Amino acid sequence: MSELKVGFIGLGIMGKPMSKNLVRAGFPVTVYNRSKPAVEELVAFGAKAAGSCREVAEQSDVVITIVSDTPDVLQVMTGSGGVLEGTREGLICADMSTISPKATRELAEEAARRGVETLDAPVSGGEKGAIEGTLSIMVGGEQAAFEKCLPVFQAMGKKIVRIGGHGDGQTCKLCNQIVGALNMLGLAEALVFGQKSGIDLEKMLEVVGGGAAASWAVQNLGPKVIKRDFEPGFMVTLQQKDMRLVLGAAEEIKLPTLASGLVHQLWKQNEADDQGRKGIQALVLALEKLTGVTVGE
Ligand code: NAP
Repeated sequence: MSELKVGFIGLGIMGKPMSKNLVRAGFPVTVYNRSKPAVEELVAFGAKAAGSCREVAEQSDVVITIVSDTPDVLQVMTGSGGVLEGTREGLICADMSTISPKATRELAEEAARRGVETLDAPVSGGEKGAIEGTLSIMVGGEQAAFEKCLPVFQAMGKKIVRIGGHGDGQTCKLCNQIVGALNMLGLAEALVFGQKSGIDLEKMLEVVGGGAAASWAVQNLGPKVIKRDFEPGFMVTLQQKDMRLVLGAAEEIKLPTLASGLVHQLWKQNEADDQGRKGIQALVLALEKLTGVTVGE
């Protein structure tokens, strides 16, 4: 049994399996979620329920948050009944959501004024990585806080790297999102091109997936597209939230990000066509609309 008492806020697609892995690893875990069925599931699994984010903080040494977007993290941290109302010296709050690096730095300053240390620790690896405990975790914040939280992160992830100071974990996550988005665009264009050229797309994915152009998207999303499976692992709307974070952060440093802008516009076509709750592989549907080609026919 670990000595660290862990609080966990946000039991969604990612948070539910991540918090279960903490229980499995032997941490005493106190959870809070806005909607209750996920809380009941975690309590049946061995966690304790708290009535508010504040209560979670009062009962924990480390509080993990993984909610949707920047305003949601601010709400659970600084809102009424939020984590920062229940703080005491020595508490560490690690936010594993994907949010704005700038807001992350501002939140770190506000928390520090109340004696609370923060880490940004966004993740990559999707629902599968969350279930299997194999997430990549990219951390920003002080080394000492990182070291204290490392056993907690190790229960949820495999590759865990401290990138630098506050916000740097989030900046790294945005790099991750740029690569992932452009891999998806490359895959979508290759599928449309291969389809119109008349080659066998399954064979194409098999051999491309074993060569220098292999990617997570080619290996995992390519076969889904051929089967016309657009169910979400990661939804277009959440990916678009991340692309807006990329474009906003690039704007702050006056950096052109041409390819990120392009793929953001294509996913906007998905949103316009009421496909925002589909998986990010729905990008193919936007290209199909543009080209008149249907993949997998
Ligand atoms: P999700 O399934 O939609 O879950 C979001 C969770 O946040 C839910 O538990 C929700 O509570 C809670 N929440 C949202 N807004 C809140 C608020 N204002 N106050 C309190 N609770 C709030 O999303 P997810 O896929 O787990 O993603 C969570 C974060 O991880 C996002 O930042 C996402 O970008 C990132 N991420 C996701 C993936 C992925 O593959 N899904 C991969 C890497 C990173 P309710 O249950 O009450 O709605």
